[in-house]
Amino acid sequence: MSKPKLALYWAAGCGGCDIAVLDIEEKILDVADFFDIVFWPCAMDFKYSDVEALGEKEIDLTLFNGAIRTSENQYMAELLREKTKLLVAFGSCAMEGCIPALSNFYDKQGTLDYAYRDAPSVDAESRGTYPQTHTAMPEGEIEIPEFFNTVKSLDQVVAVDYYIPGCPPQSFQVLGVIEAVIDILKTGKPLPPKGAVLGAGEKTCCDECPRERKEKKIKQFFRPHEIIPREDICLLDQGIICLGPATRSGCGALCVQANIPCRGCYGPPPQVQDQGAKMIAALSSVIDATTPEETRKIMEKIADPLGTFYRFSMAHSTFKRVQQEAAETVDA
Ligand code: SF4
Ligand code: SF4
Repeated sequence: MSKPKLALYWAAGCGGCDIAVLDIEEKILDVADFFDIVFWPCAMDFKYSDVEALGEKEIDLTLFNGAIRTSENQYMAELLREKTKLLVAFGSCAMEGCIPALSNFYDKQGTLDYAYRDAPSVDAESRGTYPQTHTAMPEGEIEIPEFFNTVKSLDQVVAVDYYIPGCPPQSFQVLGVIEAVIDILKTGKPLPPKGAVLGAGEKTCCDECPRERKEKKIKQFFRPHEIIPREDICLLDQGIICLGPATRSGCGALCVQANIPCRGCYGPPPQVQDQGAKMIAALSSVIDATTPEETRKIMEKIADPLGTFYRFSMAHSTFKRVQQEAAETVDA
């Protein structure tokens, strides 16, 4: 009997999700033993034509990491959707946009201007030289992918069957999901309902956090480098922005246990649509201010509030991007 087919793909992201898969260590051999890996460009020499040659729904499972930033990302999302039975948005970028979607605070031109003209790292010789989709060369025309105005999550481009959150997903959760899928494929057990979030909990990061929480009112926020926080008391109680109340459980409160605040990479908990709005609501209950002026002064201490509250979830938030009009025209 032929083995079930597995594909893994890396779109707009840092590559950490592929490393998280390899971090399951020797268990990767069980994966390679059980599945026929038909596409994993990060690890093996596959070509897009290998996927194009497959039949419709021939791949049993695809773990798709990375957001949709370019026409190449979109093409591969559509191709893998066509060829795959179970398409999983793997990791925060595919699930909700993550760091690439922070550029949704700007438009395409602003992003390109910074990267190719204004950034200090751009050398003088190439400053102001922008990439072109088509370039004529003596050897022929070079075509590179189109850079979209808006970064999208995978499910804003194609239908997604399941989600695995995290930046990256924790390896013990990745392994748990892979073992569950192997069990389902071996035994014929029913699949989880479509749209389920796998490899995560149903509560918040605070529910996994061992720190003591008090009914404390905050008069001042601190950035993590400004104080050495106590390791036994809630970081938010100590005036450090911690997104635990607005973040899904599943990582074991990993960062908080290392005495740094949760940044929110597991995305919003169930029933919460907008992680940033949920965090702002949580903060409003702990700020010790009686006037709007006092509130403003306390809030001013939060550096880059939008980037802080929407660091991982901008594409999936109610904003999606700052200029909706631009999103509608450029990405159509
Ligand atoms: S806000 Fe952060 S530090 Fe406080 S309980 Fe929640 S996860 Fe723990
Ligand atoms: S503590 Fe927060 S930022 Fe850290 S791994 Fe967990 S969900 Fe992600």
